[in-house]
Amino acid sequence: MSRVLVVGSSNTDMIIRVPRIPRPGETILGGTFAMAAGGKGANQAVAAARAGGEVIFVARVGGDVFGRQALAGFEADGIDTRFVERTEGSPSGVALINVDDRGENSISVASGANARLSLEDIGRAKEAFAEADIVLLQLESPLEAVAAAVRMAREARVPVILNPAPALPLDDALLSQITVLTPNEHEASILIGLPVENEFDARMAAKRLRARGPETVIVTLGAKGVLVSAAGVMGLLPAFAVEPVDTTAAGDVFNGALAVALAEKRPLADAIRFAQAAAAISVTRPGAQPSAPSRAEIEAFLETR
Ligand code: ADP
Repeated sequence: MSRVLVVGSSNTDMIIRVPRIPRPGETILGGTFAMAAGGKGANQAVAAARAGGEVIFVARVGGDVFGRQALAGFEADGIDTRFVERTEGSPSGVALINVDDRGENSISVASGANARLSLEDIGRAKEAFAEADIVLLQLESPLEAVAAAVRMAREARVPVILNPAPALPLDDALLSQITVLTPNEHEASILIGLPVENEFDARMAAKRLRARGPETVIVTLGAKGVLVSAAGVMGLLPAFAVEPVDTTAAGDVFNGALAVALAEKRPLADAIRFAQAAAAISVTRPGAQPSAPSRAEIEAFLETR
């Protein structure tokens, strides 16, 4: 089995569906509440585990009930949680999400324990880096911890996928160490400082980003698919046509499944096809982590296409 090391965030999403999003000082009644495990790191770890990877997650949860629940969820998905630290005295990461009838949302995030992920935490997981086939990172953790994880992966000669989300400008020192960079259009635009609104822009963005060091750049374009730039390769790989219900975390499922397929040393185009299948299935289902498909589901889907 392929070993995927994920370093990143874990949040609890608290979602209230409201007739409309409240203005400052306003109270809106008539909502319905749901709670779900979230955070980009955790979403990608779960997606990778379901897609067939042997996943080790490096993260921090709080010393509260949400941290306990998150850990139980990771274990239910067979994720190795040796390096998920409970941070006594700190709350877990929480996202408060209002969604209105039109699907508009407003989100406030309290990073809590995620903000405490440290260089020491990365150092403690050194043996796990050495054993990994691939390392998968996002930007919802302190940047110095992300940079330390990149360094440790490079020292262990393990390829690194960086999903640069949420969007942040990054310096070349970091970008040049990345094996596969997977921004969506918005993140690509923040990274290059130019608008990325169509396939033409995405081509230009992929080219510019690749010139800054990553071996492979994959710009995800939602329902349009991905624009990939690698040695001798530049082109659009279309998404699978499905009826979307909820596209939350499509990118997370894509990255988790991509990590598994690349850890299995599949050719790039095959790995992307596998990841796009996983993401396509996930958008036909509600929720973030609950929508990530199993490997059997991904394989069955690919057989029908
Ligand atoms: P993010 O969630 O990070 O914004 P995207 O929206 O670009 O990421 O989606 C990531 C991938 O998920 C896409 O490249 C595509 O393969 C798949 N995907 C997203 N939306 C759809 C959709 N409506 N139909 C089919 N596949 C989709």
